[in-house]
Amino acid sequence: MEIFERMESEVRGYCRSFPAVFATAQGSILKDEDDREYIDFFAGAGTLNYGHNNPVLKKRILAYLEKDGLLHGLDMATEAKRKLLEVIEETVLWRWKNKYKIQFTGPTGTNAVEAALKLARKVTGRRNVISFTNGFHGVSLGALAVTGNQHFRNGAGVPLGNATFMPYDGYLGPEVDTVDHLRRLLQDKSSGLGLPAAVIVETVQGEGGVNTASFDWLRRLQGLCREYDILLIVDDIQVGCGRTGTFFSFERAGILPDIITLSKSLSGYGLPMSIVLLRGEHDLWKPGEHSGTFRGNNLAFISATGAMEEYWRGLDFTFQIEEQGQLMDSRVREMRDRFSRAGEAPFEHRGRGMIHGLAFEKEPSLARDVTKAAFKRGLVVETSGSEGQVVKLLPPLTTGKDLLEAGLDILEESVGEALGTDKAKIAGGMV
Ligand code: PLP
Repeated sequence: MEIFERMESEVRGYCRSFPAVFATAQGSILKDEDDREYIDFFAGAGTLNYGHNNPVLKKRILAYLEKDGLLHGLDMATEAKRKLLEVIEETVLWRWKNKYKIQFTGPTGTNAVEAALKLARKVTGRRNVISFTNGFHGVSLGALAVTGNQHFRNGAGVPLGNATFMPYDGYLGPEVDTVDHLRRLLQDKSSGLGLPAAVIVETVQGEGGVNTASFDWLRRLQGLCREYDILLIVDDIQVGCGRTGTFFSFERAGILPDIITLSKSLSGYGLPMSIVLLRGEHDLWKPGEHSGTFRGNNLAFISATGAMEEYWRGLDFTFQIEEQGQLMDSRVREMRDRFSRAGEAPFEHRGRGMIHGLAFEKEPSLARDVTKAAFKRGLVVETSGSEGQVVKLLPPLTTGKDLLEAGLDILEESVGEALGTDKAKIAGGMV
């Protein structure tokens, strides 16, 4: 590890959480240079929904490279892009055919968020954007302005403006309806809140601590946006592409955002690629007005096409995610109950589909203790939340029951270790 510490900036992060030098990976298994295996419950922060080096996608990538398919294409028309557009229309946009246009942005999620915010401001002629407590949208300045976490905001070096934070669903406890709260502020000409250009929201806050917005809350949020002519942006960068069961995380809420951002698992293979889906009537961009050298990662288009064709024709994959999600849900609940003492649970469990969180709100440092103990046992799992208080489970959606169980077993032992209770005692009913 010496050269990483000597040469790489102090800004490095995940290599501190997972101190190993990784060499190969397949499916949900990572291997380090000493051939030690780790089960991956992190999946590149949600980028590897179809697993590492997915063989079906790899075949397509290799064939494309072999035939000297065009790799870098700015935003030129290419065969690979045409095929991708056709497949997106056929597999995930068929219900809303001709409703959305697609903007290819620079390669990372934050590039898509920047484009979405710029467009919303352009369309409405307004500046302010509403975002939510614990929201995370990226670390370039525009996206950072709508990101709540102080740790990231402190890195900006300039004031972050044109954004107002509102309480997310459940933030003020179950009794307070935070959409009503926003409505009140919008109604009141003296609230200090001007009419915003947009509201940007995650349906499940991945980085913010696996906070889930109810479908009803999302519907009412959309209703409020429509009422006040505010654009609704759903940032589906982390929990889109199937993480919660359906391709878009908002499908079951029955909403239809004005703008959607996608990235992370979109290419399906960990190749950088981001897009903005915008409702046709909002397409006020002038040619070339928003740009970027790396908007045409054609290799990513090839793997993205493969992922759509392989996983999103029909409902089988959704059922598979649901089944595995239920397994995660019941195992985490069992853990919570098993480790409870005097009726008090050591953590709060939250999640949807195949993203779950163990939130150690009372003793945040326990979450890091759990992930450290898990890593020692061969499980890669990260924390999230404002204080890193949530152990976030994000396995590839293709993990399969046996490996999922094996990872959850390690997690359970690790929670036991962090709480200072070993499994033998628990099994014997001593705690
Ligand atoms: N939006 C959401 C919801 C995210 O979770 C992330 C990254 O975690 C981003 C935006 C930023 O994406 P990127 O890190 O690729 O810039």
